[in-house]
Amino acid sequence: MATNRTFTMIKPDAVENGHTGAILEKINAAGFRIVAMKKTQMTKRDAETFYAIHSERPFFGELVEFMTRGPIISAILEKDNAVEDFRTLIGATNPAEAAEGTIRKMFATSIGENAVHGSDSDENAAIEGAFHFSGREMF
Ligand code: UDP
Repeated sequence: MATNRTFTMIKPDAVENGHTGAILEKINAAGFRIVAMKKTQMTKRDAETFYAIHSERPFFGELVEFMTRGPIISAILEKDNAVEDFRTLIGATNPAEAAEGTIRKMFATSIGENAVHGSDSDENAAIEGAFHFSGREMF
């Protein structure tokens, strides 16, 4: 995957709370092109695999429970400097520390239920995009 792509999920809290449209609007307004997008529900195994790097952290069980409790919107996004610019758009992991106008500041409810995921490196963007999408789903 090219390095001008990132991977995102609108997490179950934001989908449940009806924020999908508003979040997609902000992503669009920030200049990201949608390469792939779908609504799915992660299985326990999906979430454990996706977040395997956090498996020893105390919040891992809660994170898996949260990410599997309802549907998500997953997407691959394209833009120059996609990974860094998207992390700026979503804001800090903890919404209490997120900058004004960021997606997490506007729509997250807690450090765990923080509305959106954004890849933290080009390498992870490629791995995470390939975890959720086949080549035939990317345009
Ligand atoms: N998380 C949590 N408690 C914490 C830290 C993280 O529940 O103390 C969750 C939260 O949903 C976060 C995800 O685990 O988005 C991944 O954590 P990471 O540190 O990678 O943050 P991110 O890259 O998503 O900002």
